[in-house]
Amino acid sequence: MRRVLILGGTAEARALAAELSGGLPAELPAELSSRGVHVVSSLAGRVSNPRLPVGEVREGGFGGPDGLAAWLAAERIDALVDATHPFAARMTASAAEAAARTGVPLLVLRRPGWREGPGDTWQRVPSLHAAAARLSETATRLSEAAARRSEAAVRPGGGPLRVFLTTGRRSLPVFTGLAGVWLLARSVDPPEPPVPDHVHVLLDRGPYTVDGERALIREHRPDVLVTKDSGGPMTTAKLVAARELGLPVIMVDRPPLPAGVRLVETAAEAAAWAQG
Ligand code: NAP
Repeated sequence: MRRVLILGGTAEARALAAELSGGLPAELPAELSSRGVHVVSSLAGRVSNPRLPVGEVREGGFGGPDGLAAWLAAERIDALVDATHPFAARMTASAAEAAARTGVPLLVLRRPGWREGPGDTWQRVPSLHAAAARLSETATRLSEAAARRSEAAVRPGGGPLRVFLTTGRRSLPVFTGLAGVWLLARSVDPPEPPVPDHVHVLLDRGPYTVDGERALIREHRPDVLVTKDSGGPMTTAKLVAARELGLPVIMVDRPPLPAGVRLVETAAEAAAWAQG
């Protein structure tokens, strides 16, 4: 039977595992799958209580490209699908290198990125550090304007630049040192302590609703939303609410894919490829 490894941690990876299992309940053996494919899904093991795909699951890093290459050989994997999050760049680079070394065919499954539409006010930046630099410039302009008492340029109510940050708990250190910036930081799991006083942590996990995001923005009155171009429907509500409420967005672009990798955007396309 054809053996497929899915590098997961995303809704697309779970959809692919479900598609390849032919709708079988998780407790039945994969050999009964109508698709003739044995699927193993891999999770990094970082999130507590992760959403699990159907079928066999392994957790934890492989130990870089060498470890993954050895694992692919030991487990006699016929095809590898990298369905990790668009910002999981290390895993994607590792998959490309291990696939090239072992000759195991690799497909990357990535949901499309978000597109700016009418009514949106987005600034695209190439990295988290570029987003932080943009915030720093804005905060400096605000404090200079406040010092000059230029009322027109100072945000109503004064105070620090208020930022709604949804780039993940591990990115928080990139932003916590910025002078004149207050953060509403939302993440699935708590960030590493110590968390400074000017950071308000909100623990939550999508999917989110537009009503909920609107209420959150009204409650915390951010001046700007900083987010990564994750794409997909699970976390798009904040962008809809930001558009409605005139909240500007700093959108961090995705890291580039390794050269030459084959890319699809839907679980159905990946399932067709994985069946050989
Ligand atoms: P990353 O920086 O690219 O990966 C760091 C290391 O974690 C990798 O080198 C690998 O360790 C291990 N790893 C990552 N994904 C793995 C997987 N699916 N199976 C086994 N090991 C994995 O990735 P990340 O940004 O920390 O993301 C970790 C996981 O969370 C990914 O699976 C991703 O799909 C999911 N996720 C990430 C985000 C995000 O914003 N980055 C959002 C939602 C979900 P070794 O080198 O030891 O193999």
